[in-house]
Order: sequence, then C-alpha cells, then structure tokens
Amino acid sequence: MKQRLLLLYKLNRIDRELNELHSLKGDIPARIEELTKQKTELEAKIAELQNKLVEVTEGEEFVLNENESLTKKIDKNDNTLRAGNVKSNEEYNALAREIEDGYEKIQKNEIILDQEYKGKKDEINAKILVEQEKLGEIDVDLAENNNELNELNKQTAEEVNELQKQRDELTAQISPEDIEYYDRINKVRFGEAVAVVRKNSCLGCYSSIPPQRSIEIRTANKFFNCENCGRILIAEEIITEANA
Ligand SMILES: [Zn+2]
Repeated sequence: MKQRLLLLYKLNRIDRELNELHSLKGDIPARIEELTKQKTELEAKIAELQNKLVEVTEGEEFVLNENESLTKKIDKNDNTLRAGNVKSNEEYNALAREIEDGYEKIQKNEIILDQEYKGKKDEINAKILVEQEKLGEIDVDLAENNNELNELNKQTAEEVNELQKQRDELTAQISPEDIEYYDRINKVRFGEAVAVVRKNSCLGCYSSIPPQRSIEIRTANKFFNCENCGRILIAEEIITEANA
C-alpha cells in the first residue's frame, strides 16, 4: 500500500513540474483560441456579405439586360420609321409610342440602377472592406501569438518530453483504479492531488490532523484524504524512508 501511495506521490511531483512548464505559456493558448474564434466569425460574416453582393449584382444585371434589349428594340423601330416602311398612320403611331415608352422605361431603370443598385453595392463593399480590415488585424495578432507559443514550446520541449517519458514509465506501474482516483482529485485540486503530512498537518491546506489519524496515515493501510481539502495524504516519513 505504501508503494501505491509513493507512486501517486511521484506522479504528482511530475505533474506539478509539467504544470509549471505549461504555465510559462500564460494566457497565450487562451488568446489564440479566442482570436481563432473571432477569425471564424469574421470570415462567415464576410462570406455572407459577398453572397449578398452577388445577389444585388444579379439584380442589377437583370435591369441592365432589360435596358439593352429596350435599346435594341428602339433602334429597330427607329429604323423602320426612318425607312418609311409603315403602311398606315396607326402603325406609325404605335411604333412611335413604343419608342417613347422604351425611352421612359430606360430612364426609370437608370434611376433604379443609380439610386438602388449602386447604393446597395457601395454599402456592401464598404462593409466588406471594414470586416476585411478587422480580419487583417486579427491575422497579425494571431501570427504573433502563434510565434510566441512556438518559441516557448521549442524552449520547453526537451524538458516536457523527458517528464512525459518519466510519467509514462510511472503510470505503467500504477493500476487503472489508482490512476482514476488520482485524476479525479487532481482535476478539482488543479494538479495538486497529493499532499504531504508533516507534524499532524496537511501541507496542502495547512489544516491540522488529529494525532490518531496521523498515525494511521503513517501506517498507510489504505488511502486517506484530507478532510478539509480532499487531497490524497502521504506522511513525510514514508517519503523519507523510501529515499533512504
Ligand atoms: Zn488538506
């Protein structure tokens, strides 16, 4: 049992060192995550605006095409009139009216093109530009943070790998139940699952432990948890004995 306890204690020592190395990164990983989220949102927004722009452009093209065919029609009617190829006054008047209506419609369309479509396109393009500028800023920020993180990872890689190797060797000697027990407490105690007991007190939370319980912890016939902080308790004497 003492051996099982010692293994968990050693595991915790390694985890603490790994945590310390990890904490060198500070808030960089969180910052990268946040920036990446913002980037995705902006990209979606830009895509949406670009879709809208396509829609408006299609509407605009429809009106432009209409004007083009009206112009052709006017030209054709105009030629007919000029050539004097009309059989009656009625036909003449009908063609003249058609030409007049065509010009009127073209003029109306031009107002729509200018006031509606151009305005809409300008507005959307301006919005896209603003979002793209924001995206550019985020990309710069993201690249800086990524570089910084890569640099830190490079600096600590060797140490982390060595610790990870030691950790793997250690966990191979520990039963899955004990690992699970350790992980559960480690999670709520932020990587400090094991606390040393020295002179009747838990060094994890500095609360005192009744003398009788201290003796039991030294004997270690089973796992004991601190009643105050919940950490797995190991008597300092057990560590000293093991190192002797
Ligand atoms: Zn405690």
